[in-house]
Amino acid sequence: MYRTHTCGDLRLADKTRTVTLAGWVQTIRKFGSITFVDLRDRYGITQLLFSENLNSNLEADPLGREFVIQATGNVYERSNKNPNLATGDIEIGITEFRILNRSMTPPFTIQDDTDGGDDIRMKYRYLDLRRHAVKKNLELRYAVNRSARNYLHQHDFIDIETPFLIKSTPEGARDFVVPSRMNPGQFYALPQSPQTFKQLLMVSGYDRYYQVVKCFRDEDLRADRQPEFTQLDCEMSFIEQEDILNMFEGLIKHIFKEVKGINYTDTVQRMTWEEAMWQYGNDKPDIRFNMRLCNLKKPGTVFVDRTDHYALINDAGFAVFDDAETVVAMAVPGCSEYTRKQTDELTEWVKRPQVGMKGLVYIKCNNDGTFKSSVDKFYPEVKLRAISAAAGAVPGDLVVILAGAEERTRKAISDLRMYMAERLGLRRPDEFKLLWVLDFPLFEYDEEGNRWVARHHPFTAPKPEHIEVMIGNDPVIRDSEKYLEHPYAGIKANAYDMVLNGNEVGGGSIRIHQKDLQEKMFAALGMDKEEQEHKFGFLLGAFEYGAPPHGGIAYGFDRLCAILGGSEIIRDFIAFPKNNSGRDVMLNAPSEIDGIQYEELQIKLDLKR
Ligand code: ASP
Repeated sequence: MYRTHTCGDLRLADKTRTVTLAGWVQTIRKFGSITFVDLRDRYGITQLLFSENLNSNLEADPLGREFVIQATGNVYERSNKNPNLATGDIEIGITEFRILNRSMTPPFTIQDDTDGGDDIRMKYRYLDLRRHAVKKNLELRYAVNRSARNYLHQHDFIDIETPFLIKSTPEGARDFVVPSRMNPGQFYALPQSPQTFKQLLMVSGYDRYYQVVKCFRDEDLRADRQPEFTQLDCEMSFIEQEDILNMFEGLIKHIFKEVKGINYTDTVQRMTWEEAMWQYGNDKPDIRFNMRLCNLKKPGTVFVDRTDHYALINDAGFAVFDDAETVVAMAVPGCSEYTRKQTDELTEWVKRPQVGMKGLVYIKCNNDGTFKSSVDKFYPEVKLRAISAAAGAVPGDLVVILAGAEERTRKAISDLRMYMAERLGLRRPDEFKLLWVLDFPLFEYDEEGNRWVARHHPFTAPKPEHIEVMIGNDPVIRDSEKYLEHPYAGIKANAYDMVLNGNEVGGGSIRIHQKDLQEKMFAALGMDKEEQEHKFGFLLGAFEYGAPPHGGIAYGFDRLCAILGGSEIIRDFIAFPKNNSGRDVMLNAPSEIDGIQYEELQIKLDLKR
């Protein structure tokens, strides 16, 4: 037997017991002829005391950090207790020990505040995983996984595995492809998600499906994306959107409760995509704080005209506002006393190429009730007061205003909103706020191809009242400048996203289950009959054999875990992640393959560098 207890087990009540522990040497401290060793395993750390009589053994064959040892001894009460350690009241007086394996000195310290940088820790991930900080993330991940499974099981969902070697699934990214040796010149694609399979399972009658499943997308990795990631993927039959929203609110509340001990009793807020864009400039707004947008220009066709503050900036001769498509203001709480240097900094921030604004206008709503702005020349105090009031500002706030082209300006103010909230400590990692964003546009305009693409995926059903618009209009966009005026721009989908603290943690839709509507959809995306048959013949075929009404959702499991862990860095919640260039630096993958492998695949490499 290697051990009687783990390094996290022993307490004062175990005093005088003879125990054997096994684990890794965390630290060694020598005081004269006695030596203290902190022994670590997955469960904790226990202090071992090697007294004088073991001194010669230690001198002959010294221990080192990360050696694996087995040690036997008696449990003693510590005179110098460590309240920060669960086992801090006791130590083990060692009578016998043996080295089970040696270790080189690790390239970084195996501690929460390690001295190792990202790269070195990725290279030695197996050592990094020994750190408590990483281990607790993986434990949380497991807890979320277990909790989700429990809930889904209680609600009659069944976990069904779907294949990885498949044909392309369009989720808007590039596929990873795998050559087939048995079918020379042909390739499998790795699934971007199990989307079509879960729909086929609905056709087969498995009316509640789920899977915790790897998905693969060959995207340029923006910050915090992984080429392979995990989804909690779900699908249900005989449901409407409302059923899905209820079921999956239930799921997330169950996870909150079981994993975080949070009783989330608030009603989950709902907002249409239009509202989200209009009020926050973003389709996944963080609603833990207010800072809503005040639109000072009449909206283009996408938005319903909701508030009317459009007269406030008129007739002032300020060309920046007059000529802009969009002008949006936002009250930033408590920042009226920003110095010139600080407002300049904000201006520089929005002028960075990633944000792309030409400048920033501000109004200081002073505590004494006066107003001071960067556009005093154009706007008298009474106007500044009116604009500030429209933006919901109170004395002490700083109103910031951006002006420019619609999409860019809305994105910029949304970025600025998040940036300021972060600066002001309004994005607290221990506060959780859920939101459903509903009624997304069905189509998105692809500028490069001058065509429509599916915003969610091509299997998403349009709102019933928009089906006629889809069928009755030619999808061709004649004037690309005016794509927003095309009837397709206004078609809404029965699609929903679950947003948690400003992150999209889940997304799904009610699906098309009628063959003719699915064909219309494919046609709207520019696929002729032949291409439809070639790519999706199996699905169209299945829809001819009694497809039930169905819909579903998939959670980004890594991200959900990260947020529940109070972080937004998904890599820290994945045992073996890839770096930002999609490399596994530990395996050194991807890498070249052997010549023989090319031969077997009958492939000749001819890189166009
Ligand atoms: N398959 C979709 C996705 O990966 C989710 C869904 O529609 O259920 O985004």
